[in-house]
Amino acid sequence: MPSQISTTLPSPEKLQEARAKVLARIAAAEASRPAFEGIAAPALLAVSKTFPAESVLALARAGQRDFGENYVQEGLDKLLACRAFDPDLKLCWHFVGPLQSNKTRLVAEHFDWVHSIDRLKIAQRLNDQRPEGMPALQVCIQVNISGESTKSGVQPAEVAGLAQAISGLGRLKLRGLMAIPERLDHPAKQSEAFAALRACLEATNLGLSPEKQMDQLSMGMSADLELAVAQGASWLRVGTAIFGHRAG
Ligand SMILES: *Cc1c(COP(=O)(O)O)cnc(C)c1O
Repeated sequence: MPSQISTTLPSPEKLQEARAKVLARIAAAEASRPAFEGIAAPALLAVSKTFPAESVLALARAGQRDFGENYVQEGLDKLLACRAFDPDLKLCWHFVGPLQSNKTRLVAEHFDWVHSIDRLKIAQRLNDQRPEGMPALQVCIQVNISGESTKSGVQPAEVAGLAQAISGLGRLKLRGLMAIPERLDHPAKQSEAFAALRACLEATNLGLSPEKQMDQLSMGMSADLELAVAQGASWLRVGTAIFGHRAG
């Protein structure tokens, strides 16, 4: 469990207002960008880490369906709490954090998406552990697009091979690429990192058969979502701009 569980919770009204503002930012950015063929329209993934199920439920009442978590146990507790509260509420849960092999089963059995695949072994375990009765697990490959040695993710040159291998796993559906680019003060430089992830997706798709091609770019967070949308982002992973600052 993370140590930084928030102590003061944002009210439901505040959460709903903040979400509306983020949606307006996304829509404005989308309106002034070119269409990117083959890439899904931008959508909001609310990253609820460190915030409780009641905050998730407040946003769900305003129409938010997609939620992201980056600690397995915390995310699992939260999604089970939401299901217990309302079994008919169909939320979509995305795992966006670092994934160790001893935690893959919980993710395979309970989540809908994994954005942070960074090696074949993790993909194979998720594939083997995905229950028969569930739809394929939707996955993205995490790419170390800024080349930082401290960041997780595969190097761009390794994406094509990993994508080929994952696309052969029947219980997974390879959907796209994810990155957490280095935070830069220079907007043009920041945009280059997002553009590089899109170029990587386009290049990788050339090697995949049409029905296996990826349509998702998971990039852009609270501070830089406009730049990401302008470069083709489909999943905007937003925490702080909705929930406020995480305590700790
Ligand atoms: C926490 C987190 C986010 C959200 O970041 P904010 O800056 O709070 O919007 C997005 N992606 C990942 C992988 C995260 O861990």
